[in-house]
Amino acid sequence: MSERIIIDWDKLSDSLREPFVGLITHAEWNCNCPICRKSPIQRNNRLHIAMLPLDKELDFQHAWYNYSGKKWSSWGAFILSMKKLGVTVGCRDLQELLQKLKGMLFEFESITVVKYIERETGMKCPSRLPEMLEKKETWIPVRIVRENELEFCIRDDLRQFYSQGMDRLREIANNLWQQELKKHEEELKQIEQTSPSEVETYEYDFSNE
Ligand SMILES: [Zn+2]
Repeated sequence: MSERIIIDWDKLSDSLREPFVGLITHAEWNCNCPICRKSPIQRNNRLHIAMLPLDKELDFQHAWYNYSGKKWSSWGAFILSMKKLGVTVGCRDLQELLQKLKGMLFEFESITVVKYIERETGMKCPSRLPEMLEKKETWIPVRIVRENELEFCIRDDLRQFYSQGMDRLREIANNLWQQELKKHEEELKQIEQTSPSEVETYEYDFSNE
């Protein structure tokens, strides 16, 4: 077994979800994708990113960052991460940033906005923040992953595409994302055809939001 077993309490993760290496397949502002359209939460002024985990056999993972001009917000945490990783360098506006993000590889960590900002800036969290910010974990990019690192961690079902080159892997990831969107589009159509009472029973996990 190559996996390293942690026997040190202090090194165990606080997070409820394991970090993963993911390829960003989707980064849309005011996103109108079927997944966002299913959400009861207002779609304006927020960023939806979706990523395909490459080192773990997980489905597409999602993060939504609601815009706020304040540092202590999910938008603040996202922008801090982009600054820390140097991604915003050379980007003149949001559109350029989103364009750059697509196809990038990051390690994602599930962490609350407050914990992340405190850890990365040393700032002390102001009292009286919305409770949601304190409690809800969201995926934050914490490290840029180099393409050759995948050799050691890429999951088995994607390994053959990786060995054909990163362009091929990105193409496959994008195809999988298009299929995912289509699947949600069909589900959405079915929901729209059913009566309102049935709609209420439909559940989708928006725990990332
Ligand atoms: Zn969306």
